[in-house]
Amino acid sequence: MSAALRDFMPVAARARAACPRLTTLGEVVGLPLLAARIGAGEPAGLLMAGTHGDEPATVEAALQVLERPAGGWTGGLSLDVLPCTNPTGYVQDARETVQGVDINWSWSRHDVAEIEMLRRFLLGRRYRFVIDFHEDWETPGFYLYEHRLGVAAAGPRMITAVERVCRINRDAEIEGWPACNGVVTADSSRERITRGDGFPLVLLRDHTAHKLTTETPTELPMQLRVQAHHAALDALLAHYAELT
Ligand SMILES: [Zn+2]
Repeated sequence: MSAALRDFMPVAARARAACPRLTTLGEVVGLPLLAARIGAGEPAGLLMAGTHGDEPATVEAALQVLERPAGGWTGGLSLDVLPCTNPTGYVQDARETVQGVDINWSWSRHDVAEIEMLRRFLLGRRYRFVIDFHEDWETPGFYLYEHRLGVAAAGPRMITAVERVCRINRDAEIEGWPACNGVVTADSSRERITRGDGFPLVLLRDHTAHKLTTETPTELPMQLRVQAHHAALDALLAHYAELT
């Protein structure tokens, strides 16, 4: 691997300090793929970040979630947290892994260490929801993808919460998909045909009935992007806390 642009040590140190129950799913070029758990009992949801290594606000947002003081902010819900699923991409500030793989769209491959670790981690796990933090270089405002199978929508409520932090992308079409007030509801079958066996679709098929992907504009200051992800997450947790 060429010279690192970012140091992964502070990420691992902060996660470890914040979360005594931190585990390592494995290592890629000496960098750990970390898994944490917040709260007690069976986790209701999974929070993922850092799947694309050039989206650093997602990792920062996940670390700050781990660093929040315990005390009910999750509405009593327990969460699994994968704060950086692509550590080699993170240190290189690259979308892909050191192997040149986009984790999100290479799920059918069996020669990618990160994907194998995630596959083993997810085996037999089901969540009420999965939220995946991402960033977008091109968008002028925040938006999110919402895929759901027979469960109530949370996307519009999440947009209302993020609106207080930053601008929303209200285009009628985002990334080629129809969108309404910042919520993209891409059709799974069309997406599968166009993009291959994607991780978002595998999660929806095997591990949850409710998949959300938040996208912050990279042009905003880091802390605003972090706040936008948090506003979306907190609105989603409030939605599920009310259903419990
Ligand atoms: Zn991304």
